[in-house]
Amino acid sequence: MALLQISEPGKGTLPHQHRNAIGIDLGTTNSLVATVQSGVARILPDENHKQLIPSVVHYDANAIRVGEEAVTIQEQDPINTIASVKRLMGKKFTDVDATSYPNLLKDEGNFVGIHTKQGIKSAVEVSAEILKKLKDIAAQHIKDDILGAVITVPAYFDDAQRQATKDAAKLAGINVLRLINEPTAAAVAYGLDKEVEGHYVIFDLGGGTFDISILRLSKGLFEVIATHGDTRLGGDDFDAVILDWLTGHIDTKVDDVNARQALKSLAKRIKEQLTETETVVIDHSLNKLGHIKAELSRDAFAHLSAHLVKKTVDATRLALKDANLLASEIDGVVMVGGSTRMPLIQTTMQAFFNQDLLNDINPDEVVALGAAQQANMLVGNASDQHLLLDVIPLSLGIETMGEIVERIIPRNSTLPIAMGQEFTTYKDGQTAMMIHVVQGERDLVGDCRSLAKFSLKGIPPMVAGAAKIRVTFQVDTDGLLSVSAQELSTGVQASIEVKPSYGLDSEQIKTMLESSYQLADQDKESRALAEVRVEALQMHDMVEKALAQDKDLLAAQEIEKISVALERLKQSLDHNRRDEIQAHMDQLNDATQFFAQLRMDRSIQKALTGQEIKNMEL
Ligand code: ADP
Ligand code: MG
Repeated sequence: MALLQISEPGKGTLPHQHRNAIGIDLGTTNSLVATVQSGVARILPDENHKQLIPSVVHYDANAIRVGEEAVTIQEQDPINTIASVKRLMGKKFTDVDATSYPNLLKDEGNFVGIHTKQGIKSAVEVSAEILKKLKDIAAQHIKDDILGAVITVPAYFDDAQRQATKDAAKLAGINVLRLINEPTAAAVAYGLDKEVEGHYVIFDLGGGTFDISILRLSKGLFEVIATHGDTRLGGDDFDAVILDWLTGHIDTKVDDVNARQALKSLAKRIKEQLTETETVVIDHSLNKLGHIKAELSRDAFAHLSAHLVKKTVDATRLALKDANLLASEIDGVVMVGGSTRMPLIQTTMQAFFNQDLLNDINPDEVVALGAAQQANMLVGNASDQHLLLDVIPLSLGIETMGEIVERIIPRNSTLPIAMGQEFTTYKDGQTAMMIHVVQGERDLVGDCRSLAKFSLKGIPPMVAGAAKIRVTFQVDTDGLLSVSAQELSTGVQASIEVKPSYGLDSEQIKTMLESSYQLADQDKESRALAEVRVEALQMHDMVEKALAQDKDLLAAQEIEKISVALERLKQSLDHNRRDEIQAHMDQLNDATQFFAQLRMDRSIQKALTGQEIKNMEL
């Protein structure tokens, strides 16, 4: 096969700039946004210096409130306030327990409709309101463009739930760099991705959900090997335990929805206080419900909630069993979720795994921090960190003459992989070559994503097509691509490291793939046109050079004939039609046949008389 040709390098690449990206933990109870600044991930607080934004949305006739503001109104207007909307994401009416919501839910076929003062809302729309709020918070801290966000989802989220999360982001005007699993984000925040290998447990007890995930790390690649948990177990259940206990101390029956809500908030406050102190004294006036006076100790609380703690231990056992691992084989236990602050949970898990827990990062911030680190890496700021990739989502290749892509590694190749191909120079005496690395399924460079450019210098001057340059692509397990080019006769080489999936989300990948299928025919034509253009240009240059060298062999009339054919070929290049260019190439070929013969004779004569033949062209 003929070697493909690559042109001379142009200008150098752009200097490195910091690119802004955010990480979002879109939680059932609370949501957070974080970013990496000066190499450190930090949570971005709202205007009231609050870092945790309650995932609660209130719809008024002409206002939408999100977060703390919505929580304040929740007690007065529970029916128009939506909490725990994450549970409805990607779900149909038949999948949900409508009675567990104070809202009026409606079967909308593909999704669950939520009645509000502003009409029927879907979970995607409600989540988009939360995301908009987080985006606004981020914009207050980051003045420059924000390229996109990494949003976390539970490891067990299915396609529909993941898609719903993406749709919500789209609605909020957020570019999703990638969705990553919450346990993976937590592991990244603890820097576990920098370890060589190990098995880690991510224990996540949030407001309304409990997830336990076991991750296996090997050579920079995380794999979720087991997940377990309970989508109906979390801090809310511990609140409910205290609520029950509280109602036992009240004579009046609590049948009013607002009064119940007030009591619920009190229960939650008591629970959180018990994390700080051994006992909580309640001496509270509750409007219609009268006065309440009682005392709750940590031990009493532990007793009341023992059945809940047992559930977490049981699920942990099951996850270990699924993963075929013993508790003693676990290299680290990461505590995630606000409810893991409860001393009861900490001591139980520490005893279960018989080791110190990874709990020094705030358990409600850890997921967002890890997401921010991933986002930072995906936009290309941190080259020392790993990409969490296992296959190549799109093909990798390089630009050849005529802006055509030559694929080197096909999409979906599993990592690690190394593949190479030989190329050659385009011009006589060419001493440098531009290697332009691109990613995509289309045939023309302009339709693919440009990843990097570098040049191979010091190629010994040779006739076009004589040099042999081997270009090797290598992608290692952590998704890092390195490209090297080597001229085989001299051994000179150059190389570069590239991040192959920078800024591409699967949605974009999908669109790019779809267009490559739809446009396959058009691509074939574009490729053929590009190829014929390269050939025509080469032929034009060659004839022009020959004419300058050996014009004396021809009569004026012959020269004129060739010049006209040359000019016509050049014009046809402007018209950019393949058949026309081809026709003029054929004409030039005819017009130069006699000339070529004369030149050949001259070369042979020169050779016979011992003159140099190095630059002889046939
Ligand atoms: P989610 O991931 O479901 O959005 P979070 O991780 O933010 O939830 O956890 C929220 C839960 O954490 C709530 O039930 C809250 O009461 C509980 N929580 C937060 N701080 C504490 C604390 N100091 N002690 C006990 N529970 C806490
Ligand atoms: Mg969470």
